[in-house]
Amino acid sequence: MAPAGRDALARGLDALARDGLVRARRVLDSPQGPVVREGGADLVNFASNDYLGLASHARIRAAAVAAIERFGFGAGASPLVVGHSRLHEEAETAFARFAGAPRALLFPSGYAANLGILTALADRSAEIFADRLNHACLNDGALLSRAAFRRYPHRNVGALEAMLGATRAATRIIATDAVFSMDGDIAPVAELLALAERHDAWLLLDDAHGIGVLGEGRGTPAHFGLRSPRVIHMATLGKALGGYGAFVAGDATVIEWLLQRARPYVFSTALPPAAAAVALEAMRLVEEHPARVATLLERIGEFHRACARHGIETSSPTAIQPVVVGDPARAVAVSARLRELGQLVPAIRPPTVPEGGARLRVSLSAAHTREQVLALAAALGEALGHGAAR
Ligand SMILES: *Cc1c(COP(=O)(O)O)cnc(C)c1O
Repeated sequence: MAPAGRDALARGLDALARDGLVRARRVLDSPQGPVVREGGADLVNFASNDYLGLASHARIRAAAVAAIERFGFGAGASPLVVGHSRLHEEAETAFARFAGAPRALLFPSGYAANLGILTALADRSAEIFADRLNHACLNDGALLSRAAFRRYPHRNVGALEAMLGATRAATRIIATDAVFSMDGDIAPVAELLALAERHDAWLLLDDAHGIGVLGEGRGTPAHFGLRSPRVIHMATLGKALGGYGAFVAGDATVIEWLLQRARPYVFSTALPPAAAAVALEAMRLVEEHPARVATLLERIGEFHRACARHGIETSSPTAIQPVVVGDPARAVAVSARLRELGQLVPAIRPPTVPEGGARLRVSLSAAHTREQVLALAAALGEALGHGAAR
C-alpha cells in the first residue's frame, strides 16, 4: 500500500500540470558550450550560466584531471576533520586575493553558503532585510535562522532605510543578490553599504551572477570599488567560473566564525579537491585573459542593439537578459518555437519569478559568436510575432 499522503501529492502534481507549471529536465549528450546536443538536435545554448565558456575549457578539464591524479576524487571528510587539502587551502587564499578581501572560505555550494552564513550570523534576536527579488536560498537561509525577516521592494533603498530606522535588533543583516538572477539588474551596492554603515549592519552580497562578469571578473564589490569589513561576499563557482562550489570572502573574523559555526560547512563533506583546482584555474584564466570578460560585454551590447531592431526591449547590463511575456503558457510556447528554430532559451515561470512575470531568460556567454547572438534576436522577434527587423 502507498503511504498516506501519496494521493495529495498526486493531486498536487495534477494542479501543477493544469497551471502549466510542470518542469521536465533536458538530457544533454554533450558538454556545456555555446552549442549543446539534446534530443538528437544541436541547439545554440542560451540557457546556461557558463557566462565565460569555462565549464568545458581545455585548461579547466586539464586542471581537474591533474588534481584527480594527485588527490583522487573524494575529499573523504568534512573540512574540519580531514577533508581540507592543499588545493582547498590554495584556492581560498587565491580567491581572497582575487576578490580583494582579507580571507575566504570554500563552501559545498552557493545554496549551502547562504544557509550557512545567515544561520551562523543571525538567531531569533536578529533582523534580516532582504530584497523582494532575492534568490530562493537567501530566503531559505533567513527563515532557517529564525531571525525576523523583512523584505523590501526591489532595489528600494528608501524603503530599506525606513525599515532599518525602526529596528531594535542588535544584529542586522542586509541580504541581496548583487546581480538579480532572473532580471540581470545590479543591486545599488554603494547605497546599501552606506546604509549598512549608518545602521550598523552586515551586507551579504550574493554574487552568483556577478563573479566572472563584473569588475573585470572579480565580482560586484570590485565593480563598485568597495572594500569593507561589513561586506560578506558570496560567489558561486558553478556559473561564470565553470566549476562547482562557492567562496565566501570577507573580514578575517567573520570568516573564522563561519569556519567554526556555519553548519553546512561543518557538517558536509569538503568539495572534491578537483573542484578547488578548477576554481584556481578559472581565476588564473580570468586574470591572464581579460579579453574573455570583455567579449561577454561586447555580446551583451550586440544583443541589445539587435533586439532593438526587432522591437524587443532589453536593458540588463549583465549576462542575464530577460524577455518578459507575462503568461506562463505563452512563455512555454515561445520557448518551444525557439527550440524549433535551433535556439535553447528556457521559459521561467512562477514561483521562480513573480506571478505575471513569466519570461524567456536568455543567458549570454563569451563563448557565443556575434552571429549566434544576432540570430537569436531574429528568432526571438519571429517567435514573439514581432515581424521582420525594422
Ligand atoms: C545559482 C544561485 C545560487 C546557488 O548557487 P549554487 O552554487 O548553484 O548552489 C545562489 N544565489 C543565486 C543568486 C544563484 O543564482
